[in-house]
Amino acid sequence: MPEIVEVETIKNDLIKSDVLSNKIINVEIFATSLINSSKDDFIKKIKNKEIKDILRIGKYLIFDLGDLYLTIHLKMTGHIFLKNKTYHRKKHDHIIFHLDSNKKLIYFDPRRFGSISLKKELSFLDKLGPDILSKKFNFKSFYKDLKLKKQKIKALLLDQSFIAGLGNIYADEALFLAKINPEKLPSQLNPKKAQELFNSIKIVIKKAIKNGGTSLGTGRSNFSSIDEVFGLNQNHLLIHTKKTCPKCKRDVKKIKINQRTSHFCKNCQK
Ligand SMILES: [Zn+2]
Repeated sequence: MPEIVEVETIKNDLIKSDVLSNKIINVEIFATSLINSSKDDFIKKIKNKEIKDILRIGKYLIFDLGDLYLTIHLKMTGHIFLKNKTYHRKKHDHIIFHLDSNKKLIYFDPRRFGSISLKKELSFLDKLGPDILSKKFNFKSFYKDLKLKKQKIKALLLDQSFIAGLGNIYADEALFLAKINPEKLPSQLNPKKAQELFNSIKIVIKKAIKNGGTSLGTGRSNFSSIDEVFGLNQNHLLIHTKKTCPKCKRDVKKIKINQRTSHFCKNCQK
């Protein structure tokens, strides 16, 4: 499931592929449940709009179309592919944006949990906490907010209103790196430990971006960037999906926090 790293990878690759300043000349919609308006209305609004910029805020991919924003949340199994004119639609390719550069921007999503919206403004993002890759994510406000929270630290890291972008994989990795048990309460973290966690989040995210994201699944549902090349970060994970702790070699423990499986080492993470 795409987190900040994977969406950032998609964004960067789209920009590198010269999608900016392309015009959307047509859209084919095969699954109307994914969009926030009627099919006709959606197409009418987006047709002939130019892609002026591509942004990522939290886990949202945002196309700035001048007086309109196209926002995409990939949720569990959403993917964006960039294909050339000769590409033939495959199973689960639900929305196809035709660009005036003869490229096709494909929205693929086997489980269809994703959402694609046209919005006049981005005020809905105000509910998000600071984005990990933005300047707003700084230790001072991180620690101030942290002290007010009552839920387990792992659950808090997944809460997008606390910080934006982190999901299950990188939350596990950051907690392992900072040697913090995922069930710990924020009030139990002293400033030094909180600083270690803050630093670990940044380290884990930057490393994963450098590795082109984490591709843990199989087949086309697995994360890949727009050219269907898988990321490499799954080969560099420390604790998530592991059976043995890389440090002390003891068994990795698996527990559910917020319905998500947390991987951690009871010995190394206190
Ligand atoms: Zn260990």
